[in-house]
Amino acid sequence: MNLKQRDKKHLWHPLKQHQLHPESLAIVKAKGCILTDENGNEYIDAISSWYTSMYGHCNDYIIEQTYKQMQQLDQIMFSDFTHEPAIKLSEDLIKILPKGQNKIFFNDNGSTAVEAAIKMALQFHFNNNDSRSVFIAFENGFHGDTFGAMSVSGLSVYNGPFEEFLIDVKRIPTPNGSNTEQILDLLKTFNTKHSIAGFIYEPLVQGAAGMKIHDAKGLNDILSFCKQHQILTIADEVMTGFGKTGQHFASHHIETKPDIICLSKALTAGLIPMAITSCTQNIYDAFLSNDMAKGFFHCHTYSANPIACATAIAGIELLLSSEIQQNIKRISKAHQDFSHHINNHPKVKATRHLGVIFALDLNTKMERYGDLREKLLKFFMDRGVFLRPLGNTIYIQVPYIISPGELNKVYQVIEEALEIV
Ligand SMILES: *Cc1c(COP(=O)(O)O)cnc(C)c1O
Repeated sequence: MNLKQRDKKHLWHPLKQHQLHPESLAIVKAKGCILTDENGNEYIDAISSWYTSMYGHCNDYIIEQTYKQMQQLDQIMFSDFTHEPAIKLSEDLIKILPKGQNKIFFNDNGSTAVEAAIKMALQFHFNNNDSRSVFIAFENGFHGDTFGAMSVSGLSVYNGPFEEFLIDVKRIPTPNGSNTEQILDLLKTFNTKHSIAGFIYEPLVQGAAGMKIHDAKGLNDILSFCKQHQILTIADEVMTGFGKTGQHFASHHIETKPDIICLSKALTAGLIPMAITSCTQNIYDAFLSNDMAKGFFHCHTYSANPIACATAIAGIELLLSSEIQQNIKRISKAHQDFSHHINNHPKVKATRHLGVIFALDLNTKMERYGDLREKLLKFFMDRGVFLRPLGNTIYIQVPYIISPGELNKVYQVIEEALEIV
């Protein structure tokens, strides 16, 4: 039996209706931008395995640094001990994070980074004897699949069975350059009617919504409203962090900086799962007390795993290298050119791009997991490119190390796909 057949016996895949889609392709190898399946077919990983493997798969330098750490210290409880990799990572991160961030808290994945951020915000107010329980979030935002993260996520089509257990969230539209006044009015109304603890947002780019890009100026106005009303601002940079938008973090494009930032995905370069919730000194100080109960009692067994920290340190080192920075500029420029080239095609409704993120909306009806998506997915895979369309949106988020030839192939299959839709 091959892997595809053996898979079916005991495995349950995420985001899958197994009755409709019983098969999963078995990947046996990944190097650089190339994925190889069990039959030896190769595919360009044009979405960096969900925006993680930005320095390429099985990156030699990152593996080497990770292996070194494995031989030195594998795992130690972070509630009672500390270690060099966590310390060094906190130092390296604070240097590149948006201004004001000063404390690093470890989690295991993007959802729990958000979960910790939500709990931090709630307890910040609680410790200050200010009872606030409602959150503000964008329509169509995505923040993860644990209960708190699911609550603030606006893409709730699949949250049906859980809805009555979710925390109270009020939604605002994303700023588009002309609706800022309307959003601020909505915020004012929410703020008079409810005690708002925090505002969580994907800065500038909403990934799961289909790489939707919103207006930086409008977002800045929302953030300054929040600051004026002691509403804590939580930037979910799980997808946008580490160079994707052309800056180290999307929050660098926006004048008003967040109180809390969630990081994961490219943080550990696609090698090991880990996440971080960072915050300002002001947030941290609200948990300092002679009273134990005012501390933050949120912990994961593998918090600050030394091996994952070493991987993250190596990733940041690469991010800051002139080679990667030049690649980011090169890809960004290529997206711009492709966008110009394809924009007027009759099958294209709109294109948008920021940094290494590119998205194209087809001139067809939006169906998140419909037939068109299946047809496109197969079309791309048959031509050796892994792209994962979201409804009628095709998006690219290639590893920074992709060659110009490989990137052109990605553009080419997208252009060819326009003929079959
Ligand atoms: C992926 C993602 C998450 C969830 O991260 P997981 O590691 O999958 O739990 C949260 N927020 C954003 C913006 C994401 O892109």
